[in-house]
Amino acid sequence: MGEKFPTPTLLIVIFFILSRLISTKGYSLRDDPESIRLASSDYGHILRENPAAVLYPTSIDDISSLIKFSNNISTPFSIAARGHGHSTMGQAMAPNGVVVDMMSLKNHHPSHASGIIVNTFNLSVNNYYYYADVGGGQLWIDVLHATLEHGLAPVAWTDYLYLTVGGIAWTDYLYLTVGGTLSNADISSSAFRFGPQISNVYEMDVVTGHGDFVTCSPQNNSDLFFGVLGGLGQFGIITRARIALEPAPKRVKWVRMLYNDFSAYARDQERLISVNGRKQSNALDYLEGSLLINQGSPNNWRSSFFPQSTYSRIISLVTKHGIIYSLEVAKYYDQHTETTVDKELELLLKGLSFLPGFVFEKDVAYVEFLNRVKSGEEKLQSQGQWDVPHPWLNLFVPKSRISDFDAGVLKGIVLKRNITTAPVLLYPMNRTKWDDRMSAVVPEEEVFYTVGFLHSSGFDEWEAFEEQNKEILKFCASVGIEVKQYLPYYKTQQGWMNHFGSKWKTFQKRKALFDPKKILSPGQRIFNK
Ligand code: FAD
Repeated sequence: MGEKFPTPTLLIVIFFILSRLISTKGYSLRDDPESIRLASSDYGHILRENPAAVLYPTSIDDISSLIKFSNNISTPFSIAARGHGHSTMGQAMAPNGVVVDMMSLKNHHPSHASGIIVNTFNLSVNNYYYYADVGGGQLWIDVLHATLEHGLAPVAWTDYLYLTVGGIAWTDYLYLTVGGTLSNADISSSAFRFGPQISNVYEMDVVTGHGDFVTCSPQNNSDLFFGVLGGLGQFGIITRARIALEPAPKRVKWVRMLYNDFSAYARDQERLISVNGRKQSNALDYLEGSLLINQGSPNNWRSSFFPQSTYSRIISLVTKHGIIYSLEVAKYYDQHTETTVDKELELLLKGLSFLPGFVFEKDVAYVEFLNRVKSGEEKLQSQGQWDVPHPWLNLFVPKSRISDFDAGVLKGIVLKRNITTAPVLLYPMNRTKWDDRMSAVVPEEEVFYTVGFLHSSGFDEWEAFEEQNKEILKFCASVGIEVKQYLPYYKTQQGWMNHFGSKWKTFQKRKALFDPKKILSPGQRIFNK
């Protein structure tokens, strides 16, 4: 009693039956237990929400028809695009709605079998404009392979790439999709110089919450373009993105330095990211900071940089100081720059205040460098420690409060609670590399830090990490450190309003314009409970 009739679930089933009767196109809307099971969990392994059905589209029309169908009934059902479900708190789920498996469109492109087209466009004799048109359900690693065939690579990368294993949707193998990452920001250690991936997109095709197919760019349909970038899937489903490329480097000089003094560490990082012009040959290509804390080995699943022979020295250092700060930088080079790269790197690192004797160097091939997260991940997979809860917390912290954050959060909460053995990232970025018209939210200051607590836990233990995350957020609020969550998760609309701050009105207006029935990405819990 009290339940509206027909329910969204029933309507989805009717849609399914009708679609099978009238369609010869081969897509399918499934509600078998396996499809539902796969679409109801994610990398976080904390929440579980069952959809009523899962759409495996074979064309963009399939997605458009589904969204139009939902719009045209009295009780619309919700629809979530799912890339590879590497969210941690149900963001790609659609409770009682339909999940759209974007990876089904992996091989879809009107004119290309791989779904990825790489182009070079000659602007003038010496000035090339390189890009790739890639489907929203493509994995970044496939984009890399396709572009490397042309000697090119995407300008900005996530730090997580993985070789594809057969392209089967939702296997336990790990990737991030283009649409899933562009819905957040896609930050990486080159963001200080090239911005996040969302700053390196020229154009997109999007199916809006009305079911309309729209091509958008900074010049055309710009409100949709900027809304979708960092838009948490709220305004449309990305089916194609035109991504900026650059000539791929051949090799990488890769250096790590250790610090025990936080202010020296922060000062050095900020100095290094101040040289950040896109074309500036004396700028670093990569800068990442992380913590060594409470761990048996100085390596973790994100990095196997340190050779075994250095373990005992580094572990003694960590034991002595509690926290050691690691600064990791890289400079790419090729046959044209191999004679100058060492000198450039030396000049850049001159005068840094790392601990004497704690600088480590490597020289590796570019692809090996990009795939560096892979080996740690394989190890965790083989030990059954990958498909476990991931109570992550990712924050952007304004530069002016990063020392307070170190004292109050890292030394105050994290060291005292003594449960963090996971990678903790901490490095700065430049706000000028982010376009304020995009939906993504960052602190107001010119320089801000990303801090990521990438916890894994046992199935009975994740609450302890959640408690720590809550304490961190509470502490920041209590002392006025205005952090912004990255990959945000809020339970109330007030939480979201605070998160977006001055951007909230625009975000709301865009929702009313592009998805007025609030159909898309309900798992973000911004407009749906
Ligand atoms: P999903 O989890 O499937 O979806 C995420 C959100 O995007 C959902 O709301 C979904 O509805 C929406 N969405 C998915 N596809 C589309 C589409 N085509 N159009 C519109 N909306 C869509 N992030 C970084 O910035 N940098 C990193 O280096 C980084 N490393 C990571 C490493 C690991 C191991 C993991 C698990 C995550 C990492 N992340 C990183 C976070 C990651 O970028 C986000 O979680 C991203 O959303 C995951 O991509 P996905 O394809 O799995 O998206």
